[in-house]
Amino acid sequence: MLPLVALVGRPNVGKSTLFNAFTRTRDALVHDEPGVTRDRNYGYCRLDEEHPFVICDTGGLSDDEEGLAGATAKQSRSAAEEADLVLFVVDGREGPSALDQTILKWLRKTGKPFFLVVNKTDGLDEQACVNEFARFGAEVVLPIAAAHQRGVPELLQQILPRLPVDADADVLAEDPGRVRIAFIGRPNVGKSTLVNRLLGEERMIASDVPGTTRDSIAVDMERDGRQYRLIDTAGLRRRGKVEEAVEKFSVFKTMQAIQSCQVAVVLLDAGEGVTDQDATVLGHVLEAGRGLVVAVNKWDGQTNYTREQTISLLDRKLSFCTWAEHITISAKHGTGMRELFRAIHRAHTSATRQFTTSEVTKALEIAYASFPPPVVRGHLPKMKYAHPGGSNPPTFIVHGTRVKSLGETYKRYLENFFRKRFKLVGTPLQFIFREGE
Ligand code: GDP
Ligand code: GDP
Repeated sequence: MLPLVALVGRPNVGKSTLFNAFTRTRDALVHDEPGVTRDRNYGYCRLDEEHPFVICDTGGLSDDEEGLAGATAKQSRSAAEEADLVLFVVDGREGPSALDQTILKWLRKTGKPFFLVVNKTDGLDEQACVNEFARFGAEVVLPIAAAHQRGVPELLQQILPRLPVDADADVLAEDPGRVRIAFIGRPNVGKSTLVNRLLGEERMIASDVPGTTRDSIAVDMERDGRQYRLIDTAGLRRRGKVEEAVEKFSVFKTMQAIQSCQVAVVLLDAGEGVTDQDATVLGHVLEAGRGLVVAVNKWDGQTNYTREQTISLLDRKLSFCTWAEHITISAKHGTGMRELFRAIHRAHTSATRQFTTSEVTKALEIAYASFPPPVVRGHLPKMKYAHPGGSNPPTFIVHGTRVKSLGETYKRYLENFFRKRFKLVGTPLQFIFREGE
């Protein structure tokens, strides 16, 4: 399972700045488009492609009358306790404060491994800043300037060897003939009802995947002659564990499931539309670049009138992923299952399709010829050729001159062009632009 790193510290020391530095990648799939919610607390760090991890900004441990017992503090504490490593962020400009001491004491008590990250050292003597915190007795102390990305690569180099290896990822992926899907969504949308229905129908062939380090983190099943692997969901874990029925929603566990799957089926409740929490879950799927099918559940509870309204509301709210299919289902009655699995199949086929350099370059040439990009400061950006750069999501690497100055509108045009030409549905596409050659 993906490792978790938690940012802890008092307000204003630069935790969210550091969070952004870790989670923003050069070729972000999630742009700041209306409707997509970028989770402010949890994000994937892919600065090292081979060793991704989840980073959590626990928010401020504030100094109010409730001190560490406040609601945010509680959240910070549980995130820190869940983490493999804690980054204790302090302000190098202001030096140690009383609240830093309180946090330190608490951190010691948890027994969690932590690094002391001394931020805002820009323009200051780094060693002097670090020395100020010497009595904190941290094993690893690093000066950084998060706002200027300074010290972040060094910090990353220290973090990676301290994280557990994600062994389950290999085990889960070792049966390439199986489509790995995850049913995700906020509590009560119907995940366990759906999963139990699917497994109930296919009881004879459902089995836990052996060799994984936790119980039942995945289950294999067959449907209409196709093989599937259902990745860790609340629904799976709940099977046979009635006492855990009221399980709290864990963003981190959802992110782990997304990471291990190829296609994420995000369940929505037809009666409630797209809530903020739904938008956050969708944002994580997009950020991870996974295939996506939106399953609008509890369709049985809708009248003809509300059905029409629900559809148009969803179309509006989900305009940032028009490429994803919306399937209406009733987990309770088992309707819509055939369509749902057809959509999963289409998303998987698109997400994992292999491309050749010649077909990709050809597509680029036609797209360019039929609609060249606008001139930027007297120069026309030129795109010379493209080649495939990987799948899930399909990635296209475009070479040319001034391609870095291509605007969002043009990039969207290219994406839509490729989508249509290669008939790709249910998956985000990634374009990486390279200057020269
Ligand atoms: P948080 O409350 O701990 O999440 O802190 P923020 O990330 O919101 O940052 C608080 C303030 O510190 C903001 O005004 C940032 O611009 C500033 N800040 C963050 N990192 C640095 C840095 O490396 N150097 C300087 N000089 N300011 C920074
Ligand atoms: P989870 O928290 O996402 O796993 O949601 P559950 O599967 O526990 O379902 C939450 C509630 O919604 C339960 O009371 C289910 O019976 C109900 N429910 C689930 N699917 C449907 C459906 O398709 N139609 C209706 N009417 N209720 C449903």
